[in-house]
Amino acid sequence: MPPLFPAAAQVLFLINNLGLYIHIPFCTQKCSYCNFYSFNAESNLIDSYFNTLLGEITAKGKTVTRPVSSVYIGGGTPTVAGGKRLYELLNTINKAFNVLPNAEITVEANPGDNLVDILPFLKKGGCNRLSLGVQSANQTELNLLRRRHNLTDVENAVNIARKTGINNISLDLMLGLPHSNLKTLKTSLDFLTGLNPQHISAYILKLEQGTPLFKNQANLNMPNEDMVADQYLFMCDYLSAKGFNHYEISNFAKDGYQSRHNSSYWQLCEYIGFGPAAHSFFNGKRYYYKPNITDYISNPTAIPDGDGGSEFEYIMLSLRMSDGINSAEFKNRYGKSFSEKFLKTAETLQKNGLVNINGQNISLTNKGMLVSNSVINLFTEVL
Ligand code: SF4
Repeated sequence: MPPLFPAAAQVLFLINNLGLYIHIPFCTQKCSYCNFYSFNAESNLIDSYFNTLLGEITAKGKTVTRPVSSVYIGGGTPTVAGGKRLYELLNTINKAFNVLPNAEITVEANPGDNLVDILPFLKKGGCNRLSLGVQSANQTELNLLRRRHNLTDVENAVNIARKTGINNISLDLMLGLPHSNLKTLKTSLDFLTGLNPQHISAYILKLEQGTPLFKNQANLNMPNEDMVADQYLFMCDYLSAKGFNHYEISNFAKDGYQSRHNSSYWQLCEYIGFGPAAHSFFNGKRYYYKPNITDYISNPTAIPDGDGGSEFEYIMLSLRMSDGINSAEFKNRYGKSFSEKFLKTAETLQKNGLVNINGQNISLTNKGMLVSNSVINLFTEVL
């Protein structure tokens, strides 16, 4: 499938258009590392939720005329809701909003779900991109993470997607897992790239408070910081050698297949979120819904969260991307140049191998991406 948009045209296109995010907070079982808002739900709760969601989407669509260039249905595990409900959801979005004919429409899926039945509904609803939570190609790691799928499920899921005509495939991977090393990581990378996906998202495991992995950490053989750093840098080189562009800290894509939806967040473009825990950035303001499905069903009112698009946000989000920040763009947006202190900070970080300065552009190196939070903090402190 050819890229939906040539890369150069994508940024301008994103700025003028709108993204939609829909949160489906259901999962059949909780993964051992997960602290997202998701839970196992009875069918009647899923139905009530979809009723509210479809009503909200229809009502909002009546007040918004801007063209929609990306739709992202995430979770949770959207495929837990089944094909019919997801088709109805996609259909409602298409009727309510001005979804562009070439919009990127992504649905997250669990390879362990019955995708033979579900994916034809997604395709019929316009889905053209599937994001599969693979995480690892080592069964012992999958068991430890309490994932529901095995490797055959993943291979089948990719084959079914392609047979159904959903050819733009993104696979998720995790680094820094208990007992992991470069050899186990390479096994996963070999497996994932062997499936020829267009996109790979790779996240370093963070032990979140309250999760089973967090509680059990004393018994886990966690790789230390240096070992995790080695894994990250190894992965960057590996994926680059396989033709993936490292376009964001945790995201890698073949030419023309950067996630348009996620890129729009990092490029400070606007989006509307639906569902508990979903966030929006619309008409210059940020909003969010409380992570509570009962509240959402009884009173789906988004809570204002201040202005969006500040200098701070621009630096924080744009530096996540390999394109980085640009002084001309900054001046265009905020009417001023980077301060002396800011440029001095960039020069110091360049000497330490953490940033690249290329003309008007400042971006993080792979080493800088590894410690992105600290590097970005140094920049935002001298804004
Ligand atoms: S599938 Fe995703 S959202 Fe659901 S429990 Fe696992 S990590 Fe959390």
